[in-house]
Amino acid sequence: MRRIAVLTSGGDAPGMNAALRAVVRTAIARGWEVLGVRRGYAGLLAGEMRPLSARDVGGILQLGGTVLGSARCPEFQTEGGRRRALASLSAHGAEALVVIGGNGSQTGAYELSRMGFPVVGVASTIDNDLVGSDVTIGFDTALNVALEAIDRLKTTASSHGRAFLVEVMGRDCGHLALLAGIAGGAEAVVLPEVETDPEALARELHAAYQRGKSHALVVVAEGAAYNAAHLAQYFRANERRLGFELRVTILGHVQRGGAPGAADRLLATRLGAAAVDALARGEAGVLVGWVRGAVATTPLEEVAGRLKPLDPVLLELAGVLAR
Ligand code: ADP
Repeated sequence: MRRIAVLTSGGDAPGMNAALRAVVRTAIARGWEVLGVRRGYAGLLAGEMRPLSARDVGGILQLGGTVLGSARCPEFQTEGGRRRALASLSAHGAEALVVIGGNGSQTGAYELSRMGFPVVGVASTIDNDLVGSDVTIGFDTALNVALEAIDRLKTTASSHGRAFLVEVMGRDCGHLALLAGIAGGAEAVVLPEVETDPEALARELHAAYQRGKSHALVVVAEGAAYNAAHLAQYFRANERRLGFELRVTILGHVQRGGAPGAADRLLATRLGAAAVDALARGEAGVLVGWVRGAVATTPLEEVAGRLKPLDPVLLELAGVLAR
């Protein structure tokens, strides 16, 4: 009989619960015991963990957020903090740890695995910024939430001949903004990965106005050097040169909430199950992700502290399609 622990960490993402359910039930099916850790690494340090049964994870598949809770834990970034985490795992008899979370969480997972403890990560963040997974749990749902908002804003923008700056999440990465821009038919996207000249953006908006567009929509990534607030401030002095009146909407945390869609439930279920498979094979120190349409494991060493680059083809398409 093996005993493993599982936690959800960092920013919550729709589908984390589906991943937790898959970890618990596939591990139990192998005759293992699973300890659910509350509040991510903070709960791990504090020893907040208890055994989860198959019933304990019933009715959570369709819920957004995470029933285990999540937290940010600066102490885990110190070696002393991680030693306390190891002591807590050992006191509870856990032989391995599954970390469901995003970039920071997987960097923490790597640091813990470097200290000799078997850790498997599950790629879960709405930012979609993890190397080792073409798409991460929660991204598709968050993208659809952003799109629904963009579609609605376009309707009102058209009625009033306005330009909208719509700021979406994504931390230091532009994946969510780029895909929302393409799927939402934005006139422009502003991304952290691409240097933005606000003067060039002003010319683009004015050109769209002169071509007779009834509205203009710019999707702005929160991590861009010019985020929505900065751009609005920049244009405030001379808004009339844009042609359009300007409005700003910051979508914020609404993108995180809500029920996971079908794609995220399925991805989470597959990745959660694959994390248990990896441990059963004796594989650890890896991230379980989705690469070219299949489950894949990538050493955490290659994942930690890195950001997945944007797809240059999509980047170019975003520019071409905005005409
Ligand atoms: P996400 O996983 O969503 O990217 P964070 O970046 O906030 O969220 O990371 C979640 C937690 O992971 C942090 O609160 C911290 O405990 C841990 N963590 C982040 N970066 C590191 C690091 N470099 N070393 C160790 N632990 C880290």
